[in-house]
Amino acid sequence: PPLHKQRHQFVIDFIKKNKTKKVVDLGCCECTLLKKLKFHREIEHLVGVDIDEATVKRKMHSLAPISTDYLQPGYEQLCVEMYQGSVTERDARLRGFDLALSIELIEHLPVPDVERFSEVLFGYMAPVHAIISTPNSDFNPLLPGLRGFRHPDHKFEWTRQEFQSWAEKVCADFGYEVDITGVGKAPDGGQEQFGFCSQIAVFHQLTSGCNMFDQSQGQGETSYTLLYSVNY
Ligand code: SAM
Repeated sequence: PPLHKQRHQFVIDFIKKNKTKKVVDLGCCECTLLKKLKFHREIEHLVGVDIDEATVKRKMHSLAPISTDYLQPGYEQLCVEMYQGSVTERDARLRGFDLALSIELIEHLPVPDVERFSEVLFGYMAPVHAIISTPNSDFNPLLPGLRGFRHPDHKFEWTRQEFQSWAEKVCADFGYEVDITGVGKAPDGGQEQFGFCSQIAVFHQLTSGCNMFDQSQGQGETSYTLLYSVNY
């Protein structure tokens, strides 16, 4: 399957395994992943955020329930919310989720914003788990005809070493542990030299379950604009 589908399947497998109830997709673009996630009954609260309002609005109405949703066995409640906002800004409504997703987002941030993103995501939103994917530039020599970055809007593409250094700093600063993996294998024998085409870091909060999360801190900070909400 194409790489974007493999990334989304990676997320779906994680959600099924970990039964995460509150999930936020950062940089959700045209809601492609959210549309798949709404069919997964583990989830009770599904939120999408993107800086580009027009892009979100294009497809967000397809997140509304269709009549057969109510007929599914084991049907649970689902609340969906879509926001316009930047992942470099704090919004109290995004705090304390079970899982935050950032799939092919960080490489679109200007380099100084990556640190602000890390602080907002891990220091403020403080999800129990986070899945971050980004291109692995070590793999780029295997992509035919590629000169420069994989997409003209990419501000950077990290090597495995750069991604790992960033991830380890996040863990040290904000109390997480990380497993780094990926999707899109290199052809025979190339795995060690090139790694995965998309690299994926899966973060787990070290204090999870202890509810260290202070609900009162920063209450009322709302920098995002609600574009759409629906209750099943
Ligand atoms: N996550 C999507 C997926 O898996 O199909 C693809 C993400 S797309 C490559 C990158 C998205 O990040 C774009 O929709 C862009 O508008 C959004 N974006 C860029 N900078 C952002 C920011 N500071 N805050 C929120 N979203 C941002």
